[in-house]
Amino acid sequence: MKVIEKAAAKINLGLDTPFRHPDGMPEWNMVMTSIDLADYVAVTDRPETTIEVLSNTGFLPNDHRNLAYQAAVLLQTTYHVNRGALIEIDKHIPVAAGLGGGSSDAAAVLRALNHLWHLGLSLAELARLGLKVDSDVPYCVYGKTAHVTGRGENVAVLNPPLKPSWLVLAKPHVSVSTPNILRQIDYATLAHPNIDQVLEGVAQDDFALLDKHMGNALEKVSMTRYPEIHQIKERMRHYGADHAVMSGTGPTVFALFRQQSRAHRVYNSIRGFCSEAYLVRSL
Ligand code: ATP
Repeated sequence: MKVIEKAAAKINLGLDTPFRHPDGMPEWNMVMTSIDLADYVAVTDRPETTIEVLSNTGFLPNDHRNLAYQAAVLLQTTYHVNRGALIEIDKHIPVAAGLGGGSSDAAAVLRALNHLWHLGLSLAELARLGLKVDSDVPYCVYGKTAHVTGRGENVAVLNPPLKPSWLVLAKPHVSVSTPNILRQIDYATLAHPNIDQVLEGVAQDDFALLDKHMGNALEKVSMTRYPEIHQIKERMRHYGADHAVMSGTGPTVFALFRQQSRAHRVYNSIRGFCSEAYLVRSL
């Protein structure tokens, strides 16, 4: 039997890290939401125990380095499943872009195999397991607007979620290694966005408040290494976005709009400057 799961990209409306844990992992304080830019992950149950990953991109590893593969093996070994799976990833989310594509694929595999292998696990149980693959997997298991804390394991789904919005995304032509950026954080010099105000903006559906307080504590760290991120932010503002923010550890920058017409104007302008630009809706 085969199931196809949509694996949506995420953005960080707010990203802060108040401190580093003794093992080197950051403590997170983030507001995340999913967008209509997605991979499609087809998972087929197999009677033999092999896990095989195929994808429509040549540059993605198909072996144990693939987060989708890691998620399948983790589920299989943890619950002593005597079956395997074929995982076919139809990739649309740019890789190493700060949009959580690998984590979302891994979460999609957990949801699909939970169904195919009749494990009956709750989303909370899948999220707990997913943390072993990557800190963004627990969020991606839910894929709803959420406040995420801890090492990524505390996912509080927000009710109400972000109201339907338009986003323009622009990815400079660089790939960012998340572990490299996390190693370079100097906690003494971080500028912390006001995550409480971001949460308030979502809760009150106060778009101006949300837009004003969206921010990412890691922007300066990534921009020092990749000045292209700063240039894209400047361009977004120049073309009419009130605010443009880096997602994750970058390099993708996004701007949020309520009106499709305004988003369209910024998108039409930015794509003359940046070849990887997207106009998408929030989910
Ligand atoms: P992070 O969640 O670490 O911030 P990201 O969202 O910036 O990452 P991803 O697209 O998830 O970026 O890719 C990060 C790394 O994970 C890349 O080096 C990529 O080769 C590897 N990777 C492993 N599996 C996948 C997958 N299924 N899709 C995308 N990247 C994957």
